[in-house]
Amino acid sequence: MRNANSIPFEDEARLIPVWSMIAAGVVFLLVEHYFWFVLPAHRHHPGPPIPLRTYFNLSWGLLAAVYCLMVGYVSKDAPRRAMDARFWILVCLVLPGGIGTVIYFLLRLPLTASCPACGTHIQSDFHFCPQCAWQVTASCGNCHRTVLATDQYCTRCGHELARDHMPARLRMVVD
Ligand SMILES: [Zn+2]
Ligand SMILES: [Zn+2]
Repeated sequence: MRNANSIPFEDEARLIPVWSMIAAGVVFLLVEHYFWFVLPAHRHHPGPPIPLRTYFNLSWGLLAAVYCLMVGYVSKDAPRRAMDARFWILVCLVLPGGIGTVIYFLLRLPLTASCPACGTHIQSDFHFCPQCAWQVTASCGNCHRTVLATDQYCTRCGHELARDHMPARLRMVVD
């Protein structure tokens, strides 16, 4: 079973939608255009030296692009956690300087999954579906704490797991 606490980075990266990547590219180019062409035209004194200007211009462009990617990420990540994506996108856009995204990461709820049997949202610490009692994690038949499907004995109470009805412990592996 996949542990909800250790999601591989590639899985997370797949949560960035294409539209936000395109937006990030466009925003980057717009910011570069502004800093290289629009701003110098309105400046009446010579700007900082070229290397310094390159550094700052690229930094601002990248910052703006990352901002777009973060908003895209939130739009995909929030529904997985039964959070309102539109509300959180608004929070990210309205609060300046990325504060919205910081608040999102502080407050986001644990991942929810769907029950394979009835589709109800189930949180990562649930053993059974609250609507149809489908078993979503392997658990001890005696004390009902989580066990690994490969364990022979419960690590909490010593119960011999092989004596449980097979589906109670291994249903999720067999499926
Ligand atoms: Zn269910
Ligand atoms: Zn036990």
